Amino acid sequence: MTAAFDARDVVVRYGRRTAVNGVSLCARPGTILALLGPNGAGKSTLLRALSTAVPPNSGQVEVFGHDVVRDPVAARGRIGVVFQERTLDPDLSVDRNLWFHARLFGLSRTDARVRIDEVLARFGLTGRRRDPVADLSGGLARRLEIARALVHRPGLVVLDEPTTGLDPDARRAVWADLRRLRDEDQVTVLYATHYLGEAELADHVVIIHSGVIVRRGTPAELKDGLATPTLLLSTVDDPVAVRQLASAGFDARLSPEGVSVRCAQPGSHIASVVRAVTMAVHEVTVREPSLDDVYFATTGGGTA
Ligand code: ADP
Repeated sequence: MTAAFDARDVVVRYGRRTAVNGVSLCARPGTILALLGPNGAGKSTLLRALSTAVPPNSGQVEVFGHDVVRDPVAARGRIGVVFQERTLDPDLSVDRNLWFHARLFGLSRTDARVRIDEVLARFGLTGRRRDPVADLSGGLARRLEIARALVHRPGLVVLDEPTTGLDPDARRAVWADLRRLRDEDQVTVLYATHYLGEAELADHVVIIHSGVIVRRGTPAELKDGLATPTLLLSTVDDPVAVRQLASAGFDARLSPEGVSVRCAQPGSHIASVVRAVTMAVHEVTVREPSLDDVYFATTGGGTA
């Protein structure tokens, strides 16, 4: 089966700055991939390289078997792009925005009409088709951008921070759209995000930092492979408790939630942890690892 995209050893530089430093990544059709990383990690640049907007300095990128450098027009025909910045024409109607895109991508007039009707219905925008884009809410405008990216029937959609600036309802609507694309149309979805919660919704997560992939896997694999559960203690004097636990051999540290003790099987350690502390312990809870733990352990948080 031809991969939806296949990037091999991709390097992209802006002058002397290396934004993507030897990334290899591919995806089967019909999967959702999250590219997770802090600001400046190289996410947008990688998406630009995939979508033919920036040529790689070295390495190779294919979209459904079409090399983005040798055959950019064919590659572009198979990929739909939703940029971080708004690119709809606010003065034109919903219909007209879709129409220009369809014609730009070579759809005949008849096919453009059919396809525009389809995507409008799909995104619940049929009733708004004559409205100027300026009248749409932020959430609807974003969904229209996704609809527009699909007009030429691409098999791969890349989205750069698709839900930035949207309220929770609009975010959920965008997420439902992306899942339906995967489930009903076998479209591959690749999106960049720095929201850990959104990465968790993908089939595969790729963590990128300083232009290189530092970790990849399903959300569950990432959590299993790296993060260990912790016991959280609330005591009369947390800093002293940390010192006592450390001298008893526990991996204890002060956290915003109290004293956190990393241990593989927290349930069987509760008694010995509590015994190692001489002062009163108000509460002990077990916290299972989240993608946050993986992310912070891998990138140290912050910016790249
Ligand atoms: P992200 O999307 O993860 O925030 P980017 O791909 O935008 O990361 O940026 C990666 C690195 O490349 C950063 O150091 C950024 O400053 C730099 N960069 C991005 N775009 C340009 C550009 N057009 N010119 C010069 N440097 C750039």
